[in-house]
Formats: sequence, structure tokens, C-alpha cells
Amino acid sequence: MKRTLITAGIHGNEIGSVLIAREIKGWIESRGIEEVEVLPNVNLEAVEHKQRKNPLDDKDLNRIFPGKENGTTSERRAHRLFEKAKEFDRLIDLHTYGDDSWCIPYMLTDLNQDYNRKLCERVGLKTAVQTRGTDSQLFLETSNIGIPSMIIEAGGAQRYREELEEVKKTMIDLLTAKKTSSEKPSPKYFEHYDRKRSSIEGYFEPVKEPGDEVKNEEVLGTIDGEEIRADFSGLILGMKESSSYDPEEESIAAIAKK
Ligand SMILES: [Zn+2]
Repeated sequence: MKRTLITAGIHGNEIGSVLIAREIKGWIESRGIEEVEVLPNVNLEAVEHKQRKNPLDDKDLNRIFPGKENGTTSERRAHRLFEKAKEFDRLIDLHTYGDDSWCIPYMLTDLNQDYNRKLCERVGLKTAVQTRGTDSQLFLETSNIGIPSMIIEAGGAQRYREELEEVKKTMIDLLTAKKTSSEKPSPKYFEHYDRKRSSIEGYFEPVKEPGDEVKNEEVLGTIDGEEIRADFSGLILGMKESSSYDPEEESIAAIAKK
């Protein structure tokens, strides 16, 4: 069996991913499965404070891989984690959306690499999306050295909902090799996604939700009554819930197209 590294909590506010990683870890350990290592609290201080960045150096851990042996707390941690990841045959890094948003479960990876597509088939979630490739993320750095790697966006940050359950179940199926790739439906591949933003500050009310297909110019929701429309036709991967919208801090939706 392939050796798998599962990480979560690289972003400390994404508590949902930490919770399912802990449950997967308990499940694996109780069955004595040794080919898997689960690290649920990679960015421990950030998880304790439920914030994205590590409070000790204010760095976003997932923007500084492969790290530095003698750098700040986050840089050293990135270095150690990257060295560790090299010992594995595949890497799955669990994330969620932000505090007032959620998403359908989807796989984010460099689809230009066949080995990442194979990993998508193996994992078997319905949706796979080409990354826009912000460098220095763990999954991209490990993918760049030939290790099949992906992020799974697993739902909302703070609330335990069915999306998280689905990802947990998918992980356990993968790790026990219950189903072969051919028994799983092939994922839908999306070669591009973009984030919808607005310059208006105010209260966002969604009309659509993650998983909905939208047409170009269709209304996604409103900010203080002003209609916010899609820029192209596609699938809504993730979206804000009813909550106040800060243009500096966040986007309204992520939409994928083929
Ligand atoms: Zn994240």
C-alpha cells in the first residue's frame, strides 16, 4: 500500500479540517494502519488561536514552503514538514473555506501532472480543479518534486456539516482501499477557477449556493441590495454565507469553468 501523509490545520482558522483529521487519525490508529500518517494540527499556535497565520511570526504557513532550516517559527516548521513529506508517496492537505463561507468538497491540484490526475481518480471526490498556482504552498512544492499531491477543500471553517462528513468518509475509503478507482465515478475536471469580488462593503445575502451552476451575468447575491453577478458561466465551488462583506479581506464566491 502507498504511504500517505494527510495534513490539516496549516491555516489555524480552518477548524473543520482539523476536526476531521483528528477523527481520521483516531480511526487509523485504532485499526493499526501503518502506511498513513495524519498531522491534524500542523500550525499548532494558529489552531489554538483559530487564526489563519501563526501568531508568533504572523506568517501564512502555506506561502513559505519549502521553508528555512534557520528561519522564523513558521519557516522552520515548513522546512521540517517538507522534509518529512519527502518520505511519502502521496500528500493530501485538508483545508476549508473561511469563517463565513463554505464550499462543496473539491480537489485542488496541478492537473498538468498525470500523477496528480491519477490521485484525483483514486480519491474519487466529484470535482477536481486546476490550481491557479500560488507558489510556495506545500502541495505544489511536493508536486513539483514528483509526489502526487492535492489540497482538499472540505467545506466550512467553523461548523461541522455534511461536506466534512463526506470528505472524512472519502479519506477512510481511500486509506482502506475499499474501492478501486474503477469503482468510483471519474471526477469532473475544471481547468480554471476565479474568485468573484466586489468593491462594495456591506451585508451580503446569497441567492445561489455552492454546487449551483450559474450562467454569465446571473445574480449570485446582493450586497446592501446591490446585485452581484457572475462574470462567466460555471460551477460555484464556494461562497460566502449571509454575513458582512469586507472587500479588503475576502471574496464573494469561487467559480470554476471547464
Ligand atoms: Zn486554507
